[in-house]
This record gives sequence, structure tokens and C-alpha cells, in this order.
Amino acid sequence: MAMRIDGKAISQAVRAEIAAETAKFKEETGVTPGLAVVIVGEDPASRVYVRNKRTACEQVGFYSEGYELPAETTQAELEALVDKLNRDEKIHGILVQLPLPPHLDEEKLLLSIDPRKDVDAFHPYNVGRIMIGEYAFLPCTPAGIMELLTRSGISCEGKECVVVGRSNIVGKPMAMLMLQANGTVTVCHSRTRNLSEITRRADILVAAIGKADFFTADMVKPGAVVIDVGMNRRPDGKLTGDVDYASVEPVASAITPVPGGVGPMTITMLMKNTLRAAREQTARA
Ligand code: NDP
Repeated sequence: MAMRIDGKAISQAVRAEIAAETAKFKEETGVTPGLAVVIVGEDPASRVYVRNKRTACEQVGFYSEGYELPAETTQAELEALVDKLNRDEKIHGILVQLPLPPHLDEEKLLLSIDPRKDVDAFHPYNVGRIMIGEYAFLPCTPAGIMELLTRSGISCEGKECVVVGRSNIVGKPMAMLMLQANGTVTVCHSRTRNLSEITRRADILVAAIGKADFFTADMVKPGAVVIDVGMNRRPDGKLTGDVDYASVEPVASAITPVPGGVGPMTITMLMKNTLRAAREQTARA
């Protein structure tokens, strides 16, 4: 039977550490870390994420501001808000919930966020810093996965690490972090030939494609560590991952469940990035 990597418990432990560090930071500097969360439009799933982010802020002792803008918000209006937040000393981190409605230019918007406040680490400046291994912030989902591995006593060093999915927010940064942790990394995507031959080589397999229950036992090497990033809704509304948990769990040595695996860590890493941003901006002031 595989070890179940409990993202909920690990996330609570990390949040408790962040809360303690925040209390100390406030005492030493008189500064409260502040996060602004901006959402455009009515997407119900995005609204839930935004609410969870603000609740997490309260949990660790941060100040937070929420901006819920109508779907018809213009690029100029959104950038004016970001500009105001860039200059606001109470705010150390700015998060604009993606995706934006189609009439808005995401790339341009990301460029308008001050890289020192870019706690999602999506600004090209921060993406570049990750490539050279000198980063202030890491994108929250891959950073959360590295934390799960470390706290479960799993090292990437010398291992065959296979990441399936090459998005800018999950697959690519995940591969970079595993490479920096001395893994031998392969990245697969929708054009990869003989996918299961490659996934069967993996000592650590990261599934991040957004296809429910896609990875079955025959695609996994016995004893592999399986990290399931997928968050897919079944027709009955239940959340499920990219990994067919029932068939893979008996084959793996460790596995993350969905829900309760990678998901809870993502917001926790956002809190970590916000505290770091507050520290850096306070040190520089
Ligand atoms: P994207 O849709 O941006 O990327 C999906 C990637 O998977 C692409 O690179 C695509 O390849 C690849 N892919 C799709 N189908 C296949 C296939 N059949 N075989 C091999 N590769 C395939 O998704 P994201 O990276 O944003 O998210 C991935 C999943 O992770 C989603 O379920 C999402 O909900 C979840 N997620 C979970 C988070 C969490 O906190 N737990 C946070 C972020 C995302 P190609 O590039 O060739 O198109």
C-alpha cells in the first residue's frame, strides 16, 4: 500500500509556521503583510479560489483586500487598479485571478504588476529568475509540490522525474524545480509519442494534464511516487485528479489524493510568497 501524502495536514503545518513567522515579523517591524486579490467577472470557481485565498490570509495574520470587478472591466481600468496597488505601501503582494475574460490581455496585465509584488511569480522577470535558479518567488503549485516531497522525505536527487504537462504555471516550472533539485527530468505533453513507456520510467511522476483518471496502473512503475495535480469535475460534481487513484495506489510507493493533496498547498505557498514579499519590501524601505 502506498504512503498517502496528506496535503491538508502538511499545508496546515506550513500555515502554522507562516502564522508564527508573521507574528514575529509584525512585532519586529510593525508591518503587517498585505495581499490584494483581484478578480474580473463572475466565474464561480474563480470566486471560490479568491474567497479561500482571503480566508487563508486571515488565518496567518495578513491584511487583505479583495477587488471584485465586473466582467466588462476594460484593460485600462484594470491596469489603473494594478498601478494603484503597485504604489500602495500596505500591499506587498498582488494577485490577479486568471483566466481573465477574453477581451482582456493577460500578458500585458502580468507585465504591469511590480515584479516585487508578483506573488504568483507569473511576471516574465520572475519566470526568468526561476530559470537561473535565483528566485524571490516560486509559482505556488510547483513550489507546493516540492514542499510536499521534502516534508514526506522524498528527494529528487538522481531520480528519473517525469512531468506530464508543459503549461507555464505548472508543468514548465515544475520541471525546472526538479532539475534544480538534481532530478533527471523529462517533460511530456500532448504530442509525446509512447507516453506510457516514458511514464513507466519515472521514479517520481507528476501528472498535470487536466484529464480525469487518465493515468492508470499500467503507466506507473512499481514503487514510483505519484503526484496528481489534476483538478477535474466529474459529471456528478465530484472533484477528481488526473490519476486513477484506485488502480495506481496499490502500485505506487507514495501518492497524493485529490482532493487533499496538491490543492491545499497552492494557497499556502501564496501565503509564503506574500510574507517573503513583505520582508523584502520592508528591508528595502
Ligand atoms: P493546461 O491545460 O494549461 O495544460 C495541460 C498540459 O497537459 C498541456 O501541456 C498539454 O499538452 C498536456 N496534455 C493534455 N492532454 C494530454 C495528453 N493526453 N497526454 C499528454 N499531455 C497532455 O493545464 P494546467 O497546467 O493549467 O493544469 C493542469 C491540471 O492541473 C488541471 O486539471 C488544473 O485544474 C490542475 N491545476 C491544479 C492546481 C492545484 O492547485 N491543484 C493549480 C493549477 C492547475 P500541450 O502543451 O501539447 O497542449
